[in-house]
Amino acid sequence: MDRLIAGHKRFLAEVFPGRRAQFHLLAEGQAPEWLFITCSDSRVLPDLFLGTGPGDLFISRNAGNVVPPAGYEGDGVTATIEYAVEVLKVKSAIVCGHSDCGALKAALDPAGLQKLPRAHRWLRHVDGAFAHRQPLNPADGESAELASLIRGNVVAQLLSLKAQPAVVHALGEGRLTVHGWYYDILSGRIEAYDEGAEAFVALVG
Ligand SMILES: [Zn+2]
Repeated sequence: MDRLIAGHKRFLAEVFPGRRAQFHLLAEGQAPEWLFITCSDSRVLPDLFLGTGPGDLFISRNAGNVVPPAGYEGDGVTATIEYAVEVLKVKSAIVCGHSDCGALKAALDPAGLQKLPRAHRWLRHVDGAFAHRQPLNPADGESAELASLIRGNVVAQLLSLKAQPAVVHALGEGRLTVHGWYYDILSGRIEAYDEGAEAFVALVG
């Protein structure tokens, strides 16, 4: 814990004073523009790679950046989506997968999940990835098969997101856009899924 406590001391001494006015405003409420659904993976830091900060992203994280199907009851992800879309009225919802994702590694090798019954149950939600596997990309090297499945999972979860009742409602009113992204840890680059072309393309050329 020492490292965390030292970090918090630094925040109080060096960061907070310079941003006091911003936090004063944020203490009154939030109005984030973006719902960001991503994996729990410790290497995925959206505020770092998107240049966002306090009040910007409404974030839901779970193993495998899953959006459970519309009929699935009682999970935190769908409740978070409903709140973000219906109450906060975010303008965009983004599902962001990432390279080297352990959730998809497990999907490729489910024997490793035998002692993890809850993870095993949860990761059934990534099964849709197999039907949406993307073409192998030589740039992914030895991880090409895994990366194609991770991108497939982004497509599957994006479809599931679009089937959420709140999202259907907001899309119908034309007040929401939805996006599927793949974040590559090694290069730092993001690819966005182009639904028309049915392909992932660089977010920044
Ligand atoms: Zn992951």
